[in-house]
Amino acid sequence: MTTQAYDIIIIGAGCAGMQMMRALLQHPMYNGQRILLLDDGKSIQQKKTWCFWYQPGVHPYQHLISKQWEQLSIGTRSGFQTNAIAPYVYGHIHSTDFFDFHFSLIQQNPQIEYAVEQVLLTKKREDGFYVSTDHQSYFAKQVFSSSWDQKIATEHSRVYLQQQFYGWQIETEKKVFNAAAATLMDFRTAQDQGVSFIYALPFADNNALIEFTSFSDKPFDQQYFETTLTDFIHKKFKTTFKITRREQSVIPMTDYVFQRFTHEGSIAIGTAAGMVKPTTGYAFNRILKDCLQLATQVLTGKEVLGFKKNRFHFYDQLLLQIIQKKPNEARYILETLFERVSFNHILRFLDEDTNLWQEACLFAQLPKISFLQTIPELWKPIPFTNIPVIQS
Ligand SMILES: Cc1cc2nc3c(=O)[nH]c(=O)nc-3n(C[C@H](O)[C@H](O)[C@H](O)COP(=O)(O)OP(=O)(O)OC[C@H]3O[C@@H](n4cnc5c(N)ncnc54)[C@H](O)[C@@H]3O)c2cc1C
Repeated sequence: MTTQAYDIIIIGAGCAGMQMMRALLQHPMYNGQRILLLDDGKSIQQKKTWCFWYQPGVHPYQHLISKQWEQLSIGTRSGFQTNAIAPYVYGHIHSTDFFDFHFSLIQQNPQIEYAVEQVLLTKKREDGFYVSTDHQSYFAKQVFSSSWDQKIATEHSRVYLQQQFYGWQIETEKKVFNAAAATLMDFRTAQDQGVSFIYALPFADNNALIEFTSFSDKPFDQQYFETTLTDFIHKKFKTTFKITRREQSVIPMTDYVFQRFTHEGSIAIGTAAGMVKPTTGYAFNRILKDCLQLATQVLTGKEVLGFKKNRFHFYDQLLLQIIQKKPNEARYILETLFERVSFNHILRFLDEDTNLWQEACLFAQLPKISFLQTIPELWKPIPFTNIPVIQS
């Protein structure tokens, strides 16, 4: 079997692989390099929605945003509050639109190829990378990889929780939704299995995606999700409804330290590079920023450097510990945060765009005892755990 040569191979053509391809292709220094995307087809099969907050006018994926909200709502023990989030808006992209757009780029550019193949092995030699799949072998000078080993991450972390969510897109008989505001977190739902909340995206006054989300290390069965959702919808909206679509998945929430490079030496991207923010599960914009930076580094011949830990990593570690060990306190902290701090301040903090003073102001509003009690945990060595891995 002959080895086909490319300039760049991207392993995994999901959210990160596609964004990486686009970032390279549209970079001013891109010079027609041949790019091969290899994917086993899993990400594209899973229909989903990506949401994120952004400043209108400056987002490279703005043309794919099918709905946006200028307000966000939060439900806590004190009630339900809705606030404007200017200068941000909260946008929504269908994965189908995302993939259609990237496949049209591939079609328009014959130097970019896409193959549905499972990568089995990547080996780095002096001249470059040799990549073997279940069909073929390939060579490239540069490899980006979305592939990561969940077992290694669970074994080398103090906290390995799962953000599990199950949702229905529903059409209701009555007009019950405020289509101007998305609900980020409504904690007024079952709390017996970890920190849990309802996430809701109203597309019209009688059409919304309602998701039950939970941060937990125990897998839930479908019956639990369905009962909890039905209960919430009946109590809050008091209407009959029909389900038009289902969405279910699991996102890792871990303090495992993802690295810039995979153990074979290729450049990790997306989840494999720790781009999923461990305390929220948001990744789309982090992936975007990372891919744009990587495209510049690789195409201008700059050295790609390993990650440095920053203070946000420390904050995430602290909160993850509290979520795992004291879920009730974690919920109290989150509720307090949204009750006392302006939404745009929180969003900027979650984007890791705040300065130390702004972070101090935010922490000053929170109950401090849980954080102080948790700090010593972070100095304990990372154990080899055997937390069961939940399959999505
Ligand atoms: C249902 C769902 C909803 C989400 N919603 C949001 C949201 O609203 N906002 C947000 O910011 N984030 C969201 N996220 C988090 C994050 O944006 C996604 O998880 C994102 O898809 C991560 O991108 P990725 O490329 O790393 O992984 P994926 O999109 O999963 O793509 C990786 C691809 O690589 C393939 N692959 C891996 N290894 C190999 C191999 N060896 N050979 C061949 N192919 C391989 C996989 O099968 C997959 O197709 C959501 C995640 C899920 C699961």
